[in-house]
Amino acid sequence: MSLLNVRGLTKEFGDLTAVDDVSFDIEDGEFVSILGPSGSGKSTVLRMVAGFEEPTAGDIDLDGAGIVGSPPFERDVNMVFQNLALFPHLTVAENIGYGLKQSGVPADERRERTERMLEMVRLSGYGDRTPSELSGGEQQRVALARALVNEPALVLFDEPLSSLDRKLRQHMQTELQRIQAETDTTFLYVTHDQEVALAVSDRLVVLDEGRIQQIGTVEDLYEAPESRFVADFIGDVN
Ligand code: ADP
Ligand code: MG
Repeated sequence: MSLLNVRGLTKEFGDLTAVDDVSFDIEDGEFVSILGPSGSGKSTVLRMVAGFEEPTAGDIDLDGAGIVGSPPFERDVNMVFQNLALFPHLTVAENIGYGLKQSGVPADERRERTERMLEMVRLSGYGDRTPSELSGGEQQRVALARALVNEPALVLFDEPLSSLDRKLRQHMQTELQRIQAETDTTFLYVTHDQEVALAVSDRLVVLDEGRIQQIGTVEDLYEAPESRFVADFIGDVN
């Protein structure tokens, strides 16, 4: 059984069909990207999986159970946002432990798990700083630690690296892969950046105008593109 099953997912905003009959599966432990140009519906798909947006039609199953209609905090899913959404007035450690505190995890255990996460993202010793005292790359790591600390089944990423310069972005790609392997978590990563998607993903879901163009591995997309759009979009890396 797949970890995530998305079936016939559709979202209409008035006359606009932003997401049009989208279906895909993600296996436990996979790193899957949704790749498509700006406005293709990537964020809307992610927001429906997270529970911030209700589908007009379709089903989403996580670990075999339907999650449409359940509130975000009840879903075994966390999201890393494009703007990271760190709390500026809280320390790094407080940011990471915030969700644990909300769900009543005792202070000792919170401290221990926060410390373990700081090590995982290589920020040991940074716990007492505030986000504004960190570089962009360090803030990324805090957002990642916060999304992983309660050990969700699935972590969603909405273009979190797009504001970084190329060198740092490439470094963070490698870090994402390492952290995914070490935490044994399933990642669904949304980006318009072919280079990032092709570098990090086990499989890709290519989206255009709300519709799936192709689902496959990097090789599948390179060697057997199923449409002109995919050939052009994937070929556009350099
Ligand atoms: P992407 O993340 O691929 O850039 P989005 O999922 O953000 O695309 O948006 C897909 C389409 O849906 C766009 O045309 C966008 O303008 C529209 N859209 C997204 N959210 C809303 C909303 N809340 N209300 C109306 N239109 C929206
Ligand atoms: Mg988007």
